[in-house]
Amino acid sequence: MKGLQVIYGDRPREMVKKLLYEIELEKKLSKDSIIGLKPNLVLAKPASSGATTSPEIAAGIIEYFQERGFINIRIMEGSWVGDSTKRAYKVCGYENIAQRYNVPLLDLKNDLGVNEQFLGENYKICETVKQVDYLINLPVLKGHCQTKMTCALKNLKGCIPDSEKRRFHSLGLHKPIAYLNGIIKAKLHIVDGIMGDLTFEEGGNPVEMGRIIAGTDPVLVDSYVAELMGYEINEIKHVQIAHEIGLGQLYSDDTPIKEIDRKNMPSVTIKPGHKVKHLSKWINENQACSPCYGSLIHALDKLDDMGLLGSYKGKISIGRGYKESAIDGIGVGICTSKSRYNIAGCPPRAKDLVQVLQKVIKNKK
Ligand code: SF4
Repeated sequence: MKGLQVIYGDRPREMVKKLLYEIELEKKLSKDSIIGLKPNLVLAKPASSGATTSPEIAAGIIEYFQERGFINIRIMEGSWVGDSTKRAYKVCGYENIAQRYNVPLLDLKNDLGVNEQFLGENYKICETVKQVDYLINLPVLKGHCQTKMTCALKNLKGCIPDSEKRRFHSLGLHKPIAYLNGIIKAKLHIVDGIMGDLTFEEGGNPVEMGRIIAGTDPVLVDSYVAELMGYEINEIKHVQIAHEIGLGQLYSDDTPIKEIDRKNMPSVTIKPGHKVKHLSKWINENQACSPCYGSLIHALDKLDDMGLLGSYKGKISIGRGYKESAIDGIGVGICTSKSRYNIAGCPPRAKDLVQVLQKVIKNKK
């Protein structure tokens, strides 16, 4: 699989099956391979909070493999130090998945940990992960209070014992997260980009982004996601370090991306949390697709952090309802192409929105 695959929609089970059908993963595996699924169940909150991986993504992968005769599938996770993995499995809907498909749920907190070395540095990882032939990483596209974003690279932190998680924090997270990916190498990363939190790994301000992203290179996946969220790649240290130590390529305009079901872009549906509600004050929305609206929310959050929004009195138009309208202001996406200041894209990336919006807003103030 070259580059990245992106599928749009809001039905994760069907979407992930379609993605796997495109990738034809089963051709690379023998039927008795042990397949491990590593979701992000950092704490016991449902996927609708923006914190955790939708169980429907795991369900779609399991269905796909079981329909093709694979029987050694297991789900594995170790929630963060402050929560119980078992509680997270229950609250996040994974107990139901385990019963429905007869797959085990493994609590990595039960592992004592084994020592491994990478580039001369010692790390402790959960031994259960080493027993897997094919690890599929299922991170969430979301913000993080320390590392700005968390996705493929950081999700593997759930595969180390709690004592090591504490040590990672004492080391500042960036370097150990990157190095961990030199030891534990997930073969495929399937990102839950349906719903993820704006700024915080714990959820509470979910942003719909309406897509699932798949790739085999975690650096490529994360650098692509960083731009979707409005970051320049040099702002995300752990991704930068992972690239520098040879763990993958950074996303560029030349990266091949196969987009599936562009016509299925879902509409915005969720009730916004306080921060998203605050940012939506600068938006005129009319039938916007969630991948477009989500990009704008991420971009506005960055502009708010720069102090540009406070005194800005205008509104930004977005959505399919503006296709025929002339707008005397800023419009986002090709549906608002008749705006005075239009930022094209369908859907646009938050990084591009940040770059253009900051110039336009500064000029209009
Ligand atoms: S530009 Fe229009 S069609 Fe495209 S994602 Fe945005 S709202 Fe949807």
